[in-house]
Amino acid sequence: MAKSLNFFGGFKLTLQHLTRPRVTVSYPQAKRPKQPRQHGRHVLNRYEDGMEKCIGCELCAGVCPANCIYVRGLDNPPNHPVSPGERYGYVYEINYLRCIHCDLCVEACPTQAITESKMFEFSFTNRADAIYTKAELVVDDQGFPKRLPWEDWREGEAAMTGGWMRATSPSGEAAYEGVIQWTADLGAGTRAAEAGQNEGRNDEATGSKPLRRAFAKHLQPDDVPSDLRGLSGRVNEMKAKLPKRLRDKL
Ligand code: SF4
Ligand code: SF4
Repeated sequence: MAKSLNFFGGFKLTLQHLTRPRVTVSYPQAKRPKQPRQHGRHVLNRYEDGMEKCIGCELCAGVCPANCIYVRGLDNPPNHPVSPGERYGYVYEINYLRCIHCDLCVEACPTQAITESKMFEFSFTNRADAIYTKAELVVDDQGFPKRLPWEDWREGEAAMTGGWMRATSPSGEAAYEGVIQWTADLGAGTRAAEAGQNEGRNDEATGSKPLRRAFAKHLQPDDVPSDLRGLSGRVNEMKAKLPKRLRDKL
């Protein structure tokens, strides 16, 4: 009897998992939503009037730790300027065999010309193809990243490029949280500021999601935020769903 109980006891873990949400997906047919601040393939942005934001200053190339950006600036033609600045990025190349997606280039850029999409599913069969040229990196006439034939784009991966850099302010100055310090982008307009971890953050406006809450069931106990643990965590979650005026009364 005891032996047969042990036998069925072996299925306990399996049975427990039958009712739990599945964490695996059939990749690449299905992809998990990307993290709001995912660092993927770069884009070169344009202003709302279609002009390029890149002024060919080469700061991105200078700061890149992998030495994978090559920029050449050129004076804007007076009769048909490419950018509003004195110069524009005449040549712009990124070697993706070297890029480590650290985004230091994004941080260094004075005009928010270069940001990163969330798409990282692309591959090459030779070295030359790994070097993206300006024609491939500049956003299209609607302001969206060009979807190149060898790239696997899905919904949302072109949204909120470089959202993380719109978090608070340069140098992390808290006083500037929520203050917009960037220019509008073609297709996206003036992007919302990503707020910090406070109540005022607007996840819908910024394309961010409270991922830690969404995936709390799959986290290790220590990784679950303390206010979401156990019974009191469930109470806090229910409270968070109430309208603000009711929450204030509790
Ligand atoms: S993300 Fe980092 S490694 Fe890649 S191009 Fe930018 S600075 Fe260089
Ligand atoms: S992307 Fe930005 S940092 Fe790089 S050359 Fe253009 S303007 Fe300068």
